[in-house]
Amino acid sequence: MKEIPQIRLYNSYTRRKDLLTTHEPGKLGMYTCGPTVYHYAHIGNLRSYIMEDVLEKFFRYAGYDVKRVMNVTDVGHLTSDADEGEDKMIKGAKREHKTVMEIAKFYTDAFFSDCAKLNIRTPDVVEPATNLIPEYINMVQVLLDKGYAYKAGGNVYFDTSKLDRYYVFGEHDEEDLAVGVREGVEEDANKKNKADFVLWFTQSKFEDQALKWESPFFDEMGYPGWHIECSCISMKHLGEYCDIHCGGVDNMFPHHTNEIAQSEAYLGHEWCTQWFHVAHLNDETGKMSKSKGEFLTVSLLEEKGYNPLVYRLFCLQSHYRKNLVFSFEALDNATQQYEKLVQKIAQLNFDDKSEIDKETFDKLNDKFVKNLAIDLNTANAVSVLYDVLKANTNDATKLCLLEHFDYVLSLDLRKAAEKLKKEQAEREANRYAGIPEEVVAMVEERAAAKKAKDFAKADELRDKVKALGYTIKDTPQGAEIVKD
Ligand code: AMP
Ligand code: ZN
Repeated sequence: MKEIPQIRLYNSYTRRKDLLTTHEPGKLGMYTCGPTVYHYAHIGNLRSYIMEDVLEKFFRYAGYDVKRVMNVTDVGHLTSDADEGEDKMIKGAKREHKTVMEIAKFYTDAFFSDCAKLNIRTPDVVEPATNLIPEYINMVQVLLDKGYAYKAGGNVYFDTSKLDRYYVFGEHDEEDLAVGVREGVEEDANKKNKADFVLWFTQSKFEDQALKWESPFFDEMGYPGWHIECSCISMKHLGEYCDIHCGGVDNMFPHHTNEIAQSEAYLGHEWCTQWFHVAHLNDETGKMSKSKGEFLTVSLLEEKGYNPLVYRLFCLQSHYRKNLVFSFEALDNATQQYEKLVQKIAQLNFDDKSEIDKETFDKLNDKFVKNLAIDLNTANAVSVLYDVLKANTNDATKLCLLEHFDYVLSLDLRKAAEKLKKEQAEREANRYAGIPEEVVAMVEERAAAKKAKDFAKADELRDKVKALGYTIKDTPQGAEIVKD
């Protein structure tokens, strides 16, 4: 078995850079909070998924046998502070005069199509929240039986006062707590403690909740609270231990805090102790939000002529724990960098069959791995691409390194370089199409004269060509002939 390098990642749970460990050596269970499918994903959401994708691919590259699981939130849930507790799925269905399930199907497909354009791998398991209602009911029942939950006013609540500890992410004050409470039912008089949250609803302010299920808790039909889906989906596919749990920073509280509370209360032991949170992408006016009306999507970038992979490069060039401000100027810069890289790669000899220079390969590969192994420094990992291009070695080794790195970075650089090479060859083949042979011969003779520094002859030939009705234009790619 390949020796797995040590990986240190910032862990929001301990607020330190911890050495990554897994429950079973060599195997890694990874859980990702998936999208709420009531609208298109904005490029901020996709920043989180890009960085999680790089993390997953790096784990695989390092030698872990990874199983990655993601939920799709398709059952109405109460939302974070930005949305003032409106039900996202119902809001989407009303807006588009469709059913909740139609909305969920449409935006789930749209999400995976955006992911494909950004080379984000589909997780090994994708589980819509509505698939696991019996599992949620079972978890809620166990929590009731163990005394961690109580019924009040037609809902089942988690009793946070029964825990030895809550707020493991530890960065929340009274004001945050109030926000978290608002995420549930506003000024809910049924709660015993301010931080208690709903596990199962039958009574909420959303009278027209579209999807409801029977439960042993009440006679009325009901539906699950938001947090329970991630605990149950993770446990179903990864077992009682989750090695690493990912999401955007906004998920830390109340969502992840409550996931930990209910999972550990249910299991009776620690559940997940490595938490990876991606900082937000902001636009120049502040945080990006799907509920703000107009927002930036992958399709919008494409409409404006941008390659989605340039957006991926833009994300990789900044650290996942730093807020990132999006602007089209910044994307233009990333486009230039992407094109420069592609041009440099296109100059390599793709047919080079030389033996791989192992020493250079190992040296640069180690550098690439080390950069990612220290809190996923993707910007430094990208800079190793330039080291490869500058390295004093054969093209076969350079191409081999680039291909290895692209397993993790997924920028399709070789593919883009091959396309560019093909276009250049086609342009070359058509360069003198429709120009009389006599003129082409003179232009080629002139090029040879210029090379031999016989400028008098070169000028003479230019005049002769002109006399035949053609102008020679010198470009960095050679002479062009234009009919006057
Ligand atoms: P949602 O579809 O709202 O459930 O969000 C999907 C993912 O995107 C979650 O992991 C969020 O934490 C993350 N997210 C939301 N807004 C942003 C943002 N502006 N920048 C980066 N990630 C975000
Ligand atoms: Zn979640």
